[in-house]
Parts: sequence; C-alpha cells; structure tokens
Amino acid sequence: MPLRIGIPRALLYYYYYPMWKGFFKALGAEVVVSSRTTKDILDKGVKQAVDEACLPVKLFFGHVLDLKDKVDYLFVPRMVSVEHKAYICPKFLGLPDMVRHNIADLPPVIDVTVNMSRNEKNLYRAFAEAGKVLTANPLALRKAYKAGLKEQERFERFNQLGFLPHESIEQMEEGLAARNFSPGQPQNMTIALIGHGYNIFDTYISMNLIGKLRDMGIRVVTADNLTGDIIEERSNELPKRLFWTLGKRMIGSAFHYMRLDSIDGIIHVASFGCGPDSFTGEIIERHLRRRGNLPLLNLTIDEHSGEAGIVTRLEAFVDMIQWRRAAQ
Ligand code: SF4
Repeated sequence: MPLRIGIPRALLYYYYYPMWKGFFKALGAEVVVSSRTTKDILDKGVKQAVDEACLPVKLFFGHVLDLKDKVDYLFVPRMVSVEHKAYICPKFLGLPDMVRHNIADLPPVIDVTVNMSRNEKNLYRAFAEAGKVLTANPLALRKAYKAGLKEQERFERFNQLGFLPHESIEQMEEGLAARNFSPGQPQNMTIALIGHGYNIFDTYISMNLIGKLRDMGIRVVTADNLTGDIIEERSNELPKRLFWTLGKRMIGSAFHYMRLDSIDGIIHVASFGCGPDSFTGEIIERHLRRRGNLPLLNLTIDEHSGEAGIVTRLEAFVDMIQWRRAAQ
C-alpha cells in the first residue's frame, strides 16, 4: 500500500499544490488533500490556534485536524523564501512548530525548510529531504523533483490562460470545463480581485466572493493570471524594492490592473489581524487615489464576517461602477 502524504487545503496550497503533488506522486505516494473548508473545519481551527493568529493560519489548523487521522505523514514545509532576496510572511516560518505544539496525536510532520533567498538550488535540497521518507535513491528524487516542477509550470500556464488557481487544479486533475465567468452570463464588467490566494479562492472564508461577482456577470482577474515578470516590473514602480513576496504580488498586480482600460474596479481583500495586508492595502489605495481613475472596495474578512454585509457592499460597489459609467 502506498504511503499517504497529507497536504492541508489552505495557505500555500493555492500556490504550490501541483508541484508538491507531482513530486510525491512521482515517488509512488498517495497524496491526500483535506476536505473543502466548512464551518466545522474553521471552528475547529479557531479553537485550536492561538487567538493572535490571523484567519488563514487558524483555518490551516482546521485542515490539519481534518487530515491527521487519514494519512501517514503530514507535509507542512517551513517556507522562508521562494525567490532571491525576498521573504514569505514570518507566520509561515513557525507553522510546523505551531502545528506540532498545538495539535496532539499528529502523524510525523515533513517540515523541510524552503529558503531560496540566497540560493535557488535550496529548493531541490528541500524536496530531496522531503522525499527521503519514500526513497533514498538520488536519481528517483531528481526525477520526481523535475516532475513536480513540470506540474507547477503547467499550473501556471493554466492560470495565465485566465483560469483561477482552484480551477487550474481542477482542470489538471479532472479536466473540468471550469471557466473564468458564469456560463451564459454576459461579461459586462471586469474587476481585479487583489488578495491572498488562500483567502480569495477558499469559497467558505471568502463567502464565495468570486461566485457572487460572476453571478452578477462580472469577470474576475487576479494576480495569478499574470506572469512573475509583469508583477516584478510593476512593483518596481515603488521607490524601494519590496522584500515580501506575497505583498509584492498584490501590489504589482494592482499597479498593473489599474493601468488597463478594461478594468472597471479593484477589490482588495485583507485578513483581519494581518500586518502585511494593512500595509499593502494602504499603498494600493494611495496609488489609486493619485491616479484617480478606478473605484476601490476594501474588504476585511475574519471568522465573524457576515455574508449579508459582504453582499450589500458588493452590490453597492457594482451599482456605483454602473452609475459612473452612465455618467461618463
Ligand atoms: S500574510 Fe497576513 S494573512 Fe498571510 S499568513 Fe501572514 S499574517 Fe496571515
């Protein structure tokens, strides 16, 4: 029977799952992903995590609880950096320790460190370390690493075709005909949705924001639909280089979309209690105000956010864009 490796459907799952899955699968493991977020998963995570943690981290705990009795190993890498001289939010650094110390009876945790800030070769070293639970054969590890990279490239190509990451994963796994807009709905508007993938693509905690926009006939684009070069180039418009990878993605994509005539508005989604989000939100708002050309809606989500409030604000935002258009 193949070893079962558990991957929580939270945090960096929305960025790197295809690579992780491709790697473990190539080594003969069965990859098990936690269920889609439900109220129960979120409530359990909130109960288990420290109060000060942000919503996505609390949710991660809930996904670990959902998986822990179904797998032989849990994959919780310690993500420090995924590019040269830039870093991921410090919460990711301590994630394996937080999980281990707060959740009892866990299966062994594969907690390899990914730190590419000085040397991109570290990525291979991290994978080779992670794969040791399955094989000691260096050739097999190298081949599996290449298979993982190939899957990640495929995933990014799907994203750049206009699919959103969760749809790209579905396309890769099941070949579903997911689309970037509601079938049969005219796309009368395009909105750039700026937020962390783990917030905006989780339909439960985002209260199905993307689905709601699409139901109104609105096309949604995100940072994931852009290449890394575009994001880098646009974020370089700031006087100093940003060394937070996730913040850079949000700012670079917002700066790109605010230049396009095809974009009717920007929605920025932040997690309550997230320092980096309040900072990126402020920069985006200032730049938009300076350009004066696009409406912006700032939404902050937490475990107590009510759906009715979000719907009202969305509808008011869309109405305002329509009035603006009519007035122009
Ligand atoms: S960037 Fe913000 S939302 Fe994301 S893990 Fe860090 S604190 Fe939480």
